Amino acid sequence: MTTINNNSYLKIILDNKEEDVIIKIPMENIVKQLKAKRIRLTPQRIGIYKILTSQKKHLTADEIHGKIKNEFPAVSLATVYSVLELYKGKDIIREIRITFNRSCFESRTDSHHHFYCRECQEIFDINLHPCAVLRKKEVQGHLIEELQGYFYGICSKCRKNSV
Ligand SMILES: [Zn+2]
Ligand SMILES: [Zn+2]
Repeated sequence: MTTINNNSYLKIILDNKEEDVIIKIPMENIVKQLKAKRIRLTPQRIGIYKILTSQKKHLTADEIHGKIKNEFPAVSLATVYSVLELYKGKDIIREIRITFNRSCFESRTDSHHHFYCRECQEIFDINLHPCAVLRKKEVQGHLIEELQGYFYGICSKCRKNSV
């Protein structure tokens, strides 16, 4: 069994493309987070969560699979899907379906929206102040549990490049 080194750090690069911000999350915190959700820890499961909390934030199951295979060659795509389902059910990751043919996952679970660039196909996090409807927590008698806005267009980088 692989031991978990509590002193190792994860680098997280936020979406701020102009100037990448790197945050270090101690491995200890990741393990704590998974344990708090009563997730049985295996090195593979930790590895998948690590991938989701590091580097690019919105990853497809295929991309996650490609990365986890470097560390655990025996992990199948089906396993990746089942771990993602587990994490989704425990509310520690979110699924983004901004395009019909590509489902992405991220470890950020606070309320935010997404922008999809039709030029470079990147997905960006969008932070907006909660709107009046959301503050009321209901709409036309329906209880709102979650709101995800999808925006489509051309990202700031591609706009600059096309000038
Ligand atoms: Zn773009
Ligand atoms: Zn996001």
